[in-house]
Amino acid sequence: MPVFTPEYLRKVAYHIYVAKGTPEHEAEIVATHQVKANLVGHDSHGVIHIPEYVERINKGHIVPGAPFVVEKEAPCTAVINGNWGFGFVVTERAMNMAIEKAKTHGVAAITIHYQSHIGRLGDYSTMALNQGMIGLITADSGAGPKAVAPFGGRARRLGTNPICIGMPSDMEGPVLLDMATSAVAQGKITLARNRGEDVPPGWIINKEGNPTTDPEEYFGGGAILPVGADQGHKGYGLSFMVEVFSGLLTGLGFGIDPQAKHNDGCFISVFNVEHFRSLAQFKSEVAEFVKFVKTSSPAAGFNEVLYPGEIEHLNEQRRLKEGIYVENETWEQITGLMTELEVEEAVGKP
Ligand code: NAD
Repeated sequence: MPVFTPEYLRKVAYHIYVAKGTPEHEAEIVATHQVKANLVGHDSHGVIHIPEYVERINKGHIVPGAPFVVEKEAPCTAVINGNWGFGFVVTERAMNMAIEKAKTHGVAAITIHYQSHIGRLGDYSTMALNQGMIGLITADSGAGPKAVAPFGGRARRLGTNPICIGMPSDMEGPVLLDMATSAVAQGKITLARNRGEDVPPGWIINKEGNPTTDPEEYFGGGAILPVGADQGHKGYGLSFMVEVFSGLLTGLGFGIDPQAKHNDGCFISVFNVEHFRSLAQFKSEVAEFVKFVKTSSPAAGFNEVLYPGEIEHLNEQRRLKEGIYVENETWEQITGLMTELEVEEAVGKP
């Protein structure tokens, strides 16, 4: 697998999107979010999506430069129509709007509909925690294709329906729970297929409802399981509620429409800590809580207890030094696009 610096991969993504008619500032935002996903170890949400996003631009499912329309607004709330813009661009702007509202009013909640994939949710909650606020975001796929079977079922009825909560703290890395409510994000199954690897047991079932580790069986009509294994009813319940927040509260609806464009409906909520208690004390106490939790002696097979977000922080430190590996299959697709779009010279050598 070839290895690259984050700067190089950002340039690759940026020039490909600009060549596809994306305004420069938007291409910069998309490239930054995608490469950040690779940096923190979520390759499933990184540059692997470049060919897919280009395909969506070709089909009109992503509209670069789409207008950001505020359809409804009150002091603490807003409803945003992204008009099929890049989800990264729309959601970043909506999160900034929520933060501004919460600066004045203490809390803010915003829904977003009609935008494309928003990638790794962690980036948006991190924007809030960097401003001394608690940031919560949920996402679903509206009436778009489904991936996950409900607990007790074998047919797909839910998206991977992620939820992310970020807490301001005095820790060096962000305290950040960022998870799909399914056993795994769909991108990790694509990644396993591109790498020619099996997935771990407990992630997926085949179309007959039997457990399997072959990613091809997922693409052949199988489904991802809700998080929680034999306690999957809890992951399923969480997924159900994420869908209501991101699909129904946004007005996107539910169900399966094979013609539907990929649509990350989003619910964002921001809580300004200063409106509840001193931010400095809260940040210090969250860090003390992290340290307290980490004092638990490791169980068999573990070296240490990690706090939510710690593994991504450690990955980022390592990959900033070692670089980012991109699997051959993904890199071939990306270099094919660079040739087709004649951006090799603009991108330059790795
Ligand atoms: P994951 O299972 O790797 O991690 C989930 C959470 O658990 C993270 O907060 C992580 O810090 C924490 N964690 C991981 N290992 C840990 C350990 N050993 N000890 C303690 N905590 C640990 O993540 P995932 O569910 O596979 O999701 C991956 C990414 O996919 C996320 O960034 C998510 O936002 C993204 N996603 C996006 C969409 C979308 O439509 N945009 C859909 C699904 C998922």
